[in-house]
Amino acid sequence: MADAPAAPPALDIARLPHPAPVPGATRAQAIADPGFGKVFTDHMVRIAWTEQRGWHDATLGPREPISLDPAAAVLHYAQEVFEGLKAYRLADGAMALFRPEENARRFNASARRLAMPELPEEAFVEAVRQLVLADAEWFPKVEGGSLYLRPFMFASEPFLGVRPAKHFTFLVIASPAGNYFKSGAPAVSIWVSGDYTRAAPGGTGAAKCGGNYAASLVPQAEAIARGHDQVVFLDAVERKWVEELGGMNLFFVFADGSLVTPPLTGTILPGITRDSLLSLARDEGLVVREERYSLDQWREDATSGRLTEAFACGTAAVVTAVGRVAGADGAFTIGTGGPGQTTSRLRERLVAIQRGTAPDPHGWVMRLD
Ligand SMILES: *Cc1c(COP(=O)(O)O)cnc(C)c1O
Repeated sequence: MADAPAAPPALDIARLPHPAPVPGATRAQAIADPGFGKVFTDHMVRIAWTEQRGWHDATLGPREPISLDPAAAVLHYAQEVFEGLKAYRLADGAMALFRPEENARRFNASARRLAMPELPEEAFVEAVRQLVLADAEWFPKVEGGSLYLRPFMFASEPFLGVRPAKHFTFLVIASPAGNYFKSGAPAVSIWVSGDYTRAAPGGTGAAKCGGNYAASLVPQAEAIARGHDQVVFLDAVERKWVEELGGMNLFFVFADGSLVTPPLTGTILPGITRDSLLSLARDEGLVVREERYSLDQWREDATSGRLTEAFACGTAAVVTAVGRVAGADGAFTIGTGGPGQTTSRLRERLVAIQRGTAPDPHGWVMRLD
């Protein structure tokens, strides 16, 4: 949709009054132990796109149900993309975002794959920034708390023909989030899906779209039914190479101190946590390789002790140790079965930068004051 009218450089976001924000006492109760994805703030940002007008009618107003025509294309053909990022409170009390311009870029990469219009990166970041500032009182005061931001866009045009829609709606909502795992994050057990894959070459694996998640629900439920926490997917062609979990990237840590993570070949979601950890590991002088790693090799290396740790990473849980892996061919344990040293150190280093308790040499933290 390169021929779409360009948005004005500074898309003004009009502030709509909120007739009835949640009373302070109710809010305090809601954010005391918010969990993840269940509590929502008072406001949302909304921006419309049409073929004729491009991006227009940007508002920050009450969070409320949206009305959609039953023929809205998203409900039939899943033309939808989303992002996930967090606002943190820094040690000095200021609110901050972590690399939000990377989310903006990835959002547009996802939009291109789904034949949707791109939102100027500045408008994306500004929408998120204004929502965080408007709902700052919703920031959970719990240790390790954050405000999870969910920008998303969907085809709102009522039309049942199969082609890219001509009307889209962009929204940002916010959800107070507790600490995924308090101190001493437990290691998770993961199930290798033998029957299902997440993404095929040429498909939408590198795009953050709802359809990828819809397709992962059955294998994820299978993992849970078998007593595991998460599903891990193998590549769709050879069913041999380890790709990622349903919503987190994977790293392997070896006894010689080196790290491996699967390369971005188009079937893996390019995680911003993944990218940040690659930088932090290289800063430490660790050897890091982006290369394919097979399930057979993983089992062999875990058994021989050549591999000592494995971890999953993503915005929601940051870094999570993988303690056990099971599949149709049996199970194996990684290291001690608990979080290893490299996993814990990288997690702490990243969290310290995000929370402003350590220097930020890469300029990743965007203060919002
Ligand atoms: C969002 C996502 C990730 C993690 O990306 P981050 O930018 O680190 O949060 C990994 N895999 C999938 C499939 C995802 O959707």
